[in-house]
Amino acid sequence: MKSILIKNAKILDFDKKKEVIQDVLIEGDKIKDVSQGITITDAKVIDIKGLYLFPGFIDAHAHFREPGEEYKEDIASGARAALHGGVTTVFAMPNTKPPLDSRAMIEFVKERSLKANYADVLPVGAITKKREGKEIAEMGDMREGGAIAFSDDGTWVQNSSVMRRALEYSIAFRTVVISHAEDTTFSHGVVHESFISYDRGVEGYPSQKEEIAVFRDVKLAELTGGRLHIAHLSSKGSYEIIKMAKKRGINVSSEVTPHHLLLAQEEIDLFNPLYKVNPPIRTKEHRDALLEGLRDGTIDIIATDHAPHNWYEKETDVNSAPFGMISLDFYFSLLYSELVRKGKLSLFDLVSATTYKPAEIFGLSDRGVIKKGYIADLVVFDPQREYVLTEDFIRSKSKNTPFLGQRIRGCVVYVIKRGKLFKIEEI
Ligand SMILES: [Zn+2]
Repeated sequence: MKSILIKNAKILDFDKKKEVIQDVLIEGDKIKDVSQGITITDAKVIDIKGLYLFPGFIDAHAHFREPGEEYKEDIASGARAALHGGVTTVFAMPNTKPPLDSRAMIEFVKERSLKANYADVLPVGAITKKREGKEIAEMGDMREGGAIAFSDDGTWVQNSSVMRRALEYSIAFRTVVISHAEDTTFSHGVVHESFISYDRGVEGYPSQKEEIAVFRDVKLAELTGGRLHIAHLSSKGSYEIIKMAKKRGINVSSEVTPHHLLLAQEEIDLFNPLYKVNPPIRTKEHRDALLEGLRDGTIDIIATDHAPHNWYEKETDVNSAPFGMISLDFYFSLLYSELVRKGKLSLFDLVSATTYKPAEIFGLSDRGVIKKGYIADLVVFDPQREYVLTEDFIRSKSKNTPFLGQRIRGCVVYVIKRGKLFKIEEI
């Protein structure tokens, strides 16, 4: 493979908290040099003056539906949608049919990912057999087979002694346990429970349903010293619990989705199933707390919870439609357009939450930063280029997003995956 020389890249220097202009030389699948004024004769040269160069994004939470529901998404289409959005590493959650609860299943996902050859798809193994919450799955075996972390995502591990064991194992296997914090023993609501849900007559899902689960898991992390990560934080109360836990030195990290950062119950149509997600979109007060959490470091990362569903499954009433929306193809540029441009979040906070922080949390020591010796996973981002989000733009097999038709300012223009250059239009 011919070397690639990227000239005049605008790079974020996180140590000095400023933007710097550098050249980046890529040789094979690695970053060979980052400095000013690199000259080399035998290389493909791309001058990106005025554009940003970011590390490839890392999304720690996506649903690829393979095996079992490939009509919604499969590993290849999901990996392609990811790369199209600038995501070079993506985690596949284990709530497939059947679930990823054995080494053979983990190896199956890895094989499919290699064959697809878009973003790296890293499988998350189930905590319990069949995700039933009863018996711990073969975590050690799955870890050896390549599981990046463990989760029963889609359901909470309700049994405290099972969760305690999983957190103890996380230490031995040097991994992370991801909790889908939802106490399903109370409330089967479909939207956030508030005066708005009472007013409209839709069954509510109170924030306490999440907070009770977050609190229990934090306490088990305190007891065991295990590595706990809370998925898709959606409430102010959860933010407060995590903040308290971090202050006390408990080993916990957390994530928030793009939709929980962008949407608020006051501003959406509660009866439109495209807005139906789990956990639900809550009120502005909650959304503001989540933004504050990203700014103050209580919330570590942004993860999509990309959840593809076929159109006819979503074209029904809000009670019977499935939960979830997609966003891998466009979430970074949408967040840039809506949060960074509008002064609600700094570019440094957006990029750290989508690159080196997820790499740090999940022990991906070969990626997430632009430095010599790291994997050449990179994104060229044009902050001025505008596009309208259409179905044609989306590479995911499913198009279930309420953001269709949205004008987005800021666009991924090139993605480099392990030294291989893709123009966005060609992905
Ligand atoms: Zn979940």
